[in-house]
Amino acid sequence: MTTDHPMSVHPGLLAELDQAHVWHPFTQMQEWTAPLIIDRAEGNELIDTAGQRYLDGISSLWTNVHGHRHPKLDEALRVQLDKVAHTTLLGLSNVPSIELAAKLVEVAPAGLTRVFYSDSGSTAVEVALKMAFQFHRQKGSETRTRFLALIDAYHGDTVGAVSVGGMELFHSIFRPMLFGATHIPPTLEALEAAFAQHGPELAAFIVEPLVQGAAGMLLQPPGFLARARQLCDAHGVLLICDEVATGFGRTGTMFACQQEQVAPDLLCLAKGISGGYLPLAATLANERVYQAFLGPFASKRTFFHGHTYTGNPLACAVGLASLRLFEEEQVLERTATRIAELRRLLDAHIAPLSHVGDVRQCGLMVGIELVRDRGIPHPPLVPYLYEETMGAKVCVDLRRRGVMLRPLGSVVVLMPPLSITADELVRLVESTRASIVAVCGA
Ligand SMILES: *Cc1c(COP(=O)(O)O)cnc(C)c1O
Repeated sequence: MTTDHPMSVHPGLLAELDQAHVWHPFTQMQEWTAPLIIDRAEGNELIDTAGQRYLDGISSLWTNVHGHRHPKLDEALRVQLDKVAHTTLLGLSNVPSIELAAKLVEVAPAGLTRVFYSDSGSTAVEVALKMAFQFHRQKGSETRTRFLALIDAYHGDTVGAVSVGGMELFHSIFRPMLFGATHIPPTLEALEAAFAQHGPELAAFIVEPLVQGAAGMLLQPPGFLARARQLCDAHGVLLICDEVATGFGRTGTMFACQQEQVAPDLLCLAKGISGGYLPLAATLANERVYQAFLGPFASKRTFFHGHTYTGNPLACAVGLASLRLFEEEQVLERTATRIAELRRLLDAHIAPLSHVGDVRQCGLMVGIELVRDRGIPHPPLVPYLYEETMGAKVCVDLRRRGVMLRPLGSVVVLMPPLSITADELVRLVESTRASIVAVCGA
């Protein structure tokens, strides 16, 4: 495979420059050596500077939906590029942001009619938190200032998102600079108790519906989200669904909350929204929330929040093309088949391994929990503290087999693009099995 765009800098020099200048996220830079440098991609495969191919088993950090360089998505970007790359939504509008907003409302749970754009999952969450807080002020319930969230919640890395976050390893050092939130385990009993105790103080309950991704693919009991919706209604609390990870077909339905027939008051979207092409996010609100912000300017009900690249036309154009592909290629129907195939493959090849304690699957989101010994019970909620290097070792081994993954501590994550083929799925699971056996023993 040759490339028609030769790199301007030699790979060896690139590695040196990376070491010298790039501070990588979530990375202990003292241990950072010999980076694998991606040069290009095709379909569901990434290709490095040496021409090696890797199956993209985590959808380029949970973003990619239809594969890399999909002709329709590339085309949508090129067409928009010939018009304008960026203007602003502050006091102006642009064509793709309007069209995408209308399309998002069409596919979202009923009642979510207003789209507020931003640039990342974290900002989509910040927007939702601030909207919920301001909503209650403008409704005259100024005592509703507290947020309810789940233990081990992950909602992003900005200060508000970290405040509702609950992952000790990432968040504890920042505690003194955060606003407090109440954290509960994902059980019906804890949910009932929290509303009984804190109901009148709560502004909102923020939750990743069905499955907590970054916490290690932790599944909630069936009915949890539906009960949360009922309790929020009964207590006048807003429900915020963070579908940054679960959105856009990942769990088998367009949005995870649809599996419990729940429509939140605020819905946070990012990652898959642009098909994995460009940074883009949206916070969807219902009329109840939106109407509370209306009034003459002097009423100071304006939502004073906005990011410079909000509603970027290139990102919105590719987002719109991605949503159209869901229909054109019947993506949800095809994904249902892949989900069932993946379940069978995991049952046959992964679950029986002696160092696999638990296999958790929600659609095309999978967490394989590695354990020293299956006989020894292990705490279910500490993927980052238990044998935290084994997941990384398995993923390094997988590169030799042409598969790219990134673990969550001791949890090996499989999160392939929805475009993965049946053959690629077999390759993904069989390679993962081989690496677990090679690293942990049979
Ligand atoms: C990734 C993620 C975020 C943060 O998104 P960024 O784009 O990285 O800021 C928020 N919530 C959930 C559930 C996520 O998985």
